[in-house]
Amino acid sequence: MATIGWIGLGNMGRPMTKNLIAAGHTVRGYDLDERAVAAAAENGVEAVGSIAQAVDGAEVVFTMLPKGEHARSVHLGDGGVLEFAAPGTLLIDSSTIDVDSANALHDAAEKAGFAFVDAPVSGGISGAAAGTLTFMLGGADADVERARTFVEPMAGNVFHAGGNGAGQAAKIVNNMMLAISLQGAAEGAVLARKLGLDAQTFWDIAHVSSGDSWPLRTWYPVPGVVETAAANKGFDATFATALAHKDVGLAMAGAESVGVTLPAAQVAFDNLQKLMDDGYADKDCSLVIRNIDPEAPGVPQD
Ligand code: NAD
Repeated sequence: MATIGWIGLGNMGRPMTKNLIAAGHTVRGYDLDERAVAAAAENGVEAVGSIAQAVDGAEVVFTMLPKGEHARSVHLGDGGVLEFAAPGTLLIDSSTIDVDSANALHDAAEKAGFAFVDAPVSGGISGAAAGTLTFMLGGADADVERARTFVEPMAGNVFHAGGNGAGQAAKIVNNMMLAISLQGAAEGAVLARKLGLDAQTFWDIAHVSSGDSWPLRTWYPVPGVVETAAANKGFDATFATALAHKDVGLAMAGAESVGVTLPAAQVAFDNLQKLMDDGYADKDCSLVIRNIDPEAPGVPQD
């Protein structure tokens, strides 16, 4: 079993490290937020006070950070991973970040003698707790094979998406498609109600018809229809608007960099932006239904 350095012990990092410990690994964890470190320590993570201490003697270093700028500074900044990890250490970044940052980290890590794999995940906080995340790995064959062993205790599915940055590319395209389907399910829910259809009856029809989609099955934004929907709990986040907005924004930036125009993604992005502007960044992204009908059932009236 290995000694693993882990940087970023937030909503995802905390349950993920718990599963690595359950698999018998030793995990040295660091986070800027002392409360996050203390919470992880309750699960058996060895709490440390710096990146240097987290990577000391580690065979593998994971990062699970909010955005590209955080992943860049943790790896490349003064006192960062590249400065203190032993050459040859396998670096695995599971944050969802822009493809440009992922490629910059691959290049810098390789130049400094490290193996680097971009390894974003899908499955949310519940998948992290259950150890059933989908991992999308990007990098050289040998590095990805090495990474596979370490991600397995946290994973339901592990894919080698392709070369450097391919994991991030797969993740942001997937989440862009999710946001577009969600917009469709929200518009459908409003139109069905306004046309006088019973919510459950319409859902039963669409669910076995061509209007079916993952958000319809999982997040249908009307209370009392789908058990896992945030609509049942005042739209408290299962996947926060801020994160969905970030991911679609990353997809839009990726599209711009390759000269592609994505009209439906733009609509989905604008609707998430409106929720952010209206003060709902921390609420569930299925609250996009509010933009179409502010008085839809279950929508917070404040
Ligand atoms: P989070 O904000 O709960 O956790 C991030 C942690 O990183 C925080 O505890 C923060 O203090 C720490 N951090 C930030 N900068 C740091 C630094 N310089 N040094 C050390 N620690 C630092 O976020 P999360 O929900 O755990 O998400 C992490 C990543 O996973 C994001 O990129 C997110 O998009 C992605 N993701 C999240 C979900 C989800 O459902 N929450 C699902 C899939 C992917």
